[in-house]
Amino acid sequence: MLNETHDPALRSWVASANEPGCDFPIQNLPFAVFRRAGSGEKFRGGVAIGDQIFDLVQLASTGLLEGCAAEAAQAGGQEKLNALMALGPSAWSALRLALSRMLREDAVGHDWLSSCLVPQSQAEYDVPARIGDYTDFYTSVFHATNIGRQFRPDNPLLPNYKWVPIGYHGRSSSIGISGESFHRPVGQTMPPGATTPQVVPSRRLDIELELGIFIGPGNAKGTRISMAQADDHVFGICLLNDWSARDLQGWEYQPLGPFLSKNFASTISPWVVTLEALAPFRTTFHRDESDPQPLPYLDSADNRASGAFDIQLDVQLQTDAMRRAALAGASICRTSYRHAYWTVAQMVTHHTVNGCNLQPGDLFGSGTLSGPGAGEAAALIEITTGGKNPITLPNGESRTWLEDGDSVTLRGWCERPGAARIGFGECVGTVLPAITA
Ligand code: MN
Repeated sequence: MLNETHDPALRSWVASANEPGCDFPIQNLPFAVFRRAGSGEKFRGGVAIGDQIFDLVQLASTGLLEGCAAEAAQAGGQEKLNALMALGPSAWSALRLALSRMLREDAVGHDWLSSCLVPQSQAEYDVPARIGDYTDFYTSVFHATNIGRQFRPDNPLLPNYKWVPIGYHGRSSSIGISGESFHRPVGQTMPPGATTPQVVPSRRLDIELELGIFIGPGNAKGTRISMAQADDHVFGICLLNDWSARDLQGWEYQPLGPFLSKNFASTISPWVVTLEALAPFRTTFHRDESDPQPLPYLDSADNRASGAFDIQLDVQLQTDAMRRAALAGASICRTSYRHAYWTVAQMVTHHTVNGCNLQPGDLFGSGTLSGPGAGEAAALIEITTGGKNPITLPNGESRTWLEDGDSVTLRGWCERPGAARIGFGECVGTVLPAITA
């Protein structure tokens, strides 16, 4: 559903928001929690506009907003966005409309509103919600097939994959914000041919290019969220790098699934792009006729018509040597979220079919978003075929798995004719040496 906030002709009095290629034009208006870096101020909610942050606490204190929009700005001014997420789409939408009107080029009194701006270059960010639960899905059939082939060449895809949105419960305590560094995890691995496991720094440290989905109001325990209601329970989407230690994973994952190979760090982008901002980039959900069609509880006309999102995704790897030589990162994956086998709505509906309650600020991971084509593999385990085919970087270095000092940057954006381009900013994380003592 498009409205005046999506009009591609809108321009902002914040000049940087009108620059071609800007991630945060007035049609985007994503949310984060931030403060001035090093200030010791309280974190609070803000909205990105160009290279600035519109401070929701400052805005609420102006008394310019009324009704639903005022309530939403008040909720968004807290240290975490859970209260805003709990309010639901009518409140989010009212705030978005008010912000859009205030930030337009022709808005009255904008000289005065500029006191609500903080430059992004002076800000630091925090994880935007108290994430009660983190659920990681597995929604790329291309990723599932590529991984499955390494273990079961004759039967790569397990029989449940095309019927069930596969997921597992992850851990929220170790989810960090873009810019973080973390130590290479140490753990048990069983080298080929050995009879006793070693406790060593992971040698097969990997990325997972995913999107993070922040839950809005959620449901009471024992109730279900239908496909028709699902989007109303989704606050927005961010970038997510779900770092993984493949050697730890290989030894521990049977029979109960990944454990310490996945829960040492997951990095998200600070900016959460709302579903309303993403509306122009919805696209059809396509299921091949030769595949099982979704069961009725996972199907709807709306989902088929517009349940998928065409979000462009890019992964860049910058080694320590590249950084020292002031070389930019090299792209190692370019794909789109539109290739996912299950949609956001299907994940929400499936998660609650048994009466499991979702809560405001819960986070879903989409799973590694590999696409079908060359260059669209979204983890090193696929790119290097399980470590057998190293990649060569533009400066001549090669990589099979991540090495100490490597930084990985995820980027996401949406563009199509007739709509304003919007972006997700970036999600950066850096690998530090293991702590072995
Ligand atoms: Mn994952």
